[in-house]
Amino acid sequence: MPNCIFKAIYLAGLVAGSAIRAVYRWRSRGRAAATTHAGPLDAALLAVASLGFVLPLVYVLTARLDFADYPLPAAIRLVGAAVFAGALWLLWRSHADLGPNWSAVLRIHAGHTLVTEGVYRRVRHPMYAAHWLWGAAQALLLANWAAGPAMLVSFLPLYLLRVPREERMMLEHFGDAYRAYIRRTGRILPRRSP
Ligand code: SAH
Repeated sequence: MPNCIFKAIYLAGLVAGSAIRAVYRWRSRGRAAATTHAGPLDAALLAVASLGFVLPLVYVLTARLDFADYPLPAAIRLVGAAVFAGALWLLWRSHADLGPNWSAVLRIHAGHTLVTEGVYRRVRHPMYAAHWLWGAAQALLLANWAAGPAMLVSFLPLYLLRVPREERMMLEHFGDAYRAYIRRTGRILPRRSP
């Protein structure tokens, strides 16, 4: 199968993922923040993470990164397409379940509620799990050393530095309810019920 087909699949996924994000960003516009825990670090982490989308976009739309192409069997790349579909589903469901509580930076809104159902039932960070799945899908779909692993590499600092701060913020705000939630869930992999 020609490389352009996999590039087209990636582009279609990126458009779908951006559309999902745009819809929920629009719905949560104008929400008042009760407390914000975001600082320059969050902005820097988001900027680094965005390279995970920018590099593949440069790869798909131009020939600038073609020097880093390598051969990869079509079957593996089709697995990447299937994983991408799973990542988009999880991104959509986590946005749908989190509803107006979502924010791109660490923030507690006025009237913020703790979501523990839907895809949040067994996993505390399904949206970040969706990003990891997206990263894996991208690495399998795009047989290019610069664009393929870009998301896996660029999302790692955000994940490692943000999750402990996010959980501290949630603990401060929701106290025992979040403590109990931590006990019965996994971070990005589902915890089996006891
Ligand atoms: N870490 C989550 C959410 C990412 S969006 C995930 O990966 O699915 C980040 C915002 O979501 C944070 O600012 C926080 O206010 C909010 N948030 C995270 N977990 C939440 C939960 N279980 N219920 C309600 N809001 C949550």
